[in-house]
This record gives sequence, structure tokens and C-alpha cells, in this order.
Amino acid sequence: MTTHDHDWLVVGTGFGGSVSALRLAQKGYRVGMLECGRRFRDEDFANTTWEAAKYYWFPKFGMKGVFRTTLFKDIFVVSGSGVGGGSLGYANTLYRARPGFYRDPQIAGLADWERELAPHYDEAERMLGVVTYDEDAGRPPAQGVRGVHRPRRDVREDARRRLPR
Ligand SMILES: Cc1cc2nc3c(=O)[nH]c(=O)nc-3n(C[C@H](O)[C@H](O)[C@H](O)COP(=O)(O)OP(=O)(O)OC[C@H]3O[C@@H](n4cnc5c(N)ncnc54)[C@H](O)[C@@H]3O)c2cc1C
Repeated sequence: MTTHDHDWLVVGTGFGGSVSALRLAQKGYRVGMLECGRRFRDEDFANTTWEAAKYYWFPKFGMKGVFRTTLFKDIFVVSGSGVGGGSLGYANTLYRARPGFYRDPQIAGLADWERELAPHYDEAERMLGVVTYDEDAGRPPAQGVRGVHRPRRDVREDARRRLPR
């Protein structure tokens, strides 16, 4: 019988891939992750966008930064690259969908999405360490602006303990 090193291979280590890999590993599967971008230490990030080789992802030209741009016929996509994917360079704002999203006729009749999604938002916010942005004290709070300083230490340490080396 063929043996394998992994039960699951997850392609991409961004927000989606990392959560998938974590949950599979927590269930006891042997999980491998494939990532085409590089691993970044704090000192590897570009300080300004002028440091193009560190900021943009154009590997053909030796540029292996976090910011990938992809041009299709009708659309231009900006996304992340590197271990961590979009989390390496995203804007740290974390919103819940507004009421209009749940009323969209394409999904509204299928379930009570606000109730269905609420526990998943709670868990994502817990894991990402979401806090309400309060730097503009004195001004009326922007509607639903939520952000993150850093993943909470206990969550990071818990993930580190559980993941296979
Ligand atoms: C500049 C910017 C700011 C943003 N700000 C916010 C924000 O404030 N709040 C918010 O909620 N969202 C924000 N987003 C959006 C958010 O980052 C994305 O929705 C999220 O990263 C998507 O997660 P993902 O797992 O689908 O993909 P990604 O996080 O992009 O991960 C995909 C990973 O797969 C890798 N990959 C791709 N192809 C291959 C391959 N063939 N082989 C191996 N690896 C591969 C990529 O290198 C990347 O690391 C922002 C995005 C950008 C670009």
C-alpha cells in the first residue's frame, strides 16, 4: 500500500489556508502547507513602497515582496504573497457584514445567516484579537470600525503548541 507523508496538503498560507490547516491539524491529520512566497522576519519588510524589490511580488525580476498584482482581461487583482499571505500586508480592519448583506435575495431565503455566522465571527475575532479602534477619541465612532493590534499572545502560543513542527 502507498504511504504518504501528509493526509492533507493545503496550498497557500493566507487567511484561508492557515485556518484550514489549523483545523485539520487539530483533528489529528498530518498537514503539509505549500507556499510560493518567502518567509518574512520583522526586519525583512519594506519600510516604504520605494523599496520595490522588498515590497512587490514579481519573481521573474527577482522581486519577492508581499504585494502581488495580477492583471486579467477584465479585472486587476491585488493580493498577498509570502508565509501568511494577505495577512502580511493587509490594513488590519476587520468588519462584520452589514445588514444589507444578509438581506441579499441570493442568500436570504437559505438560512438565518446573521445567526449562523455569529459564532464564527466571534471565534475569528477572538483568534485575531480584534479590538474596537478608539484612536479618534472625541469624534463620533465610525460605524463598526474594528481592528487588531496583534494576535493575542495566548492565542499565538496555543497555536504554536498545537501545530506539528
Ligand atoms: C493591500 C491589502 C489590504 C487589505 N486589507 C484588508 C483589511 O483591512 N481587512 C480585511 O478583512 N481584508 C483586507 N484585505 C483582504 C485580505 O487580505 C484577503 O481577503 C485575504 O488575504 C484573502 O485570504 P486568502 O487565504 O483567500 O488568500 P491570501 O491571504 O492572499 O493567501 C493566498 C496565499 O497563497 C499563496 N499562493 C498562491 N498561489 C500559490 C501556488 N500556486 N502555490 C503556492 N502558494 C500559492 C500566496 O503566495 C499567498 O500567500 C486586504 C488585501 C490587500 C491586498
